[in-house]
Amino acid sequence: MTAILCKVYTHPRTQSTPWVRIAAVCLALAGIAYATPADAARALLTTEPRTDIRIGPTREHRRVTVLPPGITIWADDFSQGFYRVALTSSLQAWVEQSHVRPLDRSVPRPPVQDVADYAMSGIDAGTILSLEIPSPIAYRVTQHLEVPALTLDLYGVRLAEVGTRQFPEDPCVWAVEAVQVADDWARLNIHLTFKQHRGWRVVQSDGHLQMLVRRPYYGASLAGKVIVIDPGHGGSDSGAVGPTGVREKDVNLRIALRLERLLIEQGAIPRLLRRSDVAIGPPGCNQRQELEARLAASEHPDSDFFLSIHNNAVGSGNRASAYGTETYYWTPMSALPARLMQKHLCAHLKTKNRLVAWQQFYVMRWGDVPRVLVECAYVSNRAEEARMRTDAFTESAARALMAGLQEFFAIAAHDTAPAVAGIEEEVEGQAVTPASLQDDEVQ
Ligand SMILES: [Zn+2]
Repeated sequence: MTAILCKVYTHPRTQSTPWVRIAAVCLALAGIAYATPADAARALLTTEPRTDIRIGPTREHRRVTVLPPGITIWADDFSQGFYRVALTSSLQAWVEQSHVRPLDRSVPRPPVQDVADYAMSGIDAGTILSLEIPSPIAYRVTQHLEVPALTLDLYGVRLAEVGTRQFPEDPCVWAVEAVQVADDWARLNIHLTFKQHRGWRVVQSDGHLQMLVRRPYYGASLAGKVIVIDPGHGGSDSGAVGPTGVREKDVNLRIALRLERLLIEQGAIPRLLRRSDVAIGPPGCNQRQELEARLAASEHPDSDFFLSIHNNAVGSGNRASAYGTETYYWTPMSALPARLMQKHLCAHLKTKNRLVAWQQFYVMRWGDVPRVLVECAYVSNRAEEARMRTDAFTESAARALMAGLQEFFAIAAHDTAPAVAGIEEEVEGQAVTPASLQDDEVQ
């Protein structure tokens, strides 16, 4: 379609002829019509490792949720490469055509599933909330910091019992409110006993949906903490390259290896995704597959924290001389450690405090643990690039990241005492927001 338009419009002899333009537009419209499924109402199966369900039909629209493969959803419209899906009878969203496989038209709309009850059980990693749901469903998890809670929305589910139950013996969850939002939409508000979330995980198999609410952080020190470290880029992907040839992937790895030694000295258990100049994904994979491989490798069941180490760059124009430090996070529970990392990086490296911001980087799009991505300095800036060649820079960056982790775990450990006596009680917001930081959060 685009090819036809380009061909016509760029041809010098036809460019000025209106009829040719009209014909081209007609051809283009015919192309759109032909590419659209004649009747969009049909069942779809999610196929990607992470299928983005969005509030509108473009990649720029916010995500409603991210689903694993193997979930059947019902589409009722199609527009420009996106299916409109009915998560419930009253909740619509959009999914990219390439993230799903259309099922045979004989496959009916998934029926509403009746669920008798949920069960709670404790394991070392935390508390498991389990529901008997025969077919995998679309769901959404949202995290709340002010009143520490996780909300689990279950689409296409009807609960037999609603109301609040308390679990005074449970170390992670003190109450669950079960609500029927609509006839085909159930919700569990899971109230936590601690303020600093440690993460969650949802698994659907063998007719069950299980949600692990990870236990709070114990112990204020780094001892015993499993820190997954992602030295950004590697192998054929150099990351940014500075004006005199410093490669970001090498700087990232040097900082990660130094941080690894510092953490071991403190009794922590660092797990580096790479310890040499290699990619994480299979040979020849594309960028998305590499990022997916990196994210999959970073999901360690014992993990306490995920840290992705990068250095920044800008292409050209006014910002070409940009310098300083930036830190990014995605899940709300990662905001506090992101601010702490930024504070310590700026203090140790004496860099400009640019921003701490919400950003949708792929490696942070998971709720298993707090995840933070740091951009220590600008490899594209001549002065900062020169510093990156020095051991002093590596040492300062690594010490800053260790200090950030230390302060985070110290705060998190103090937050673990059950602080709430009733659902209505007001709980103080985030414990620490260093006033010195510029906070250009984009939500
Ligand atoms: Zn990078």
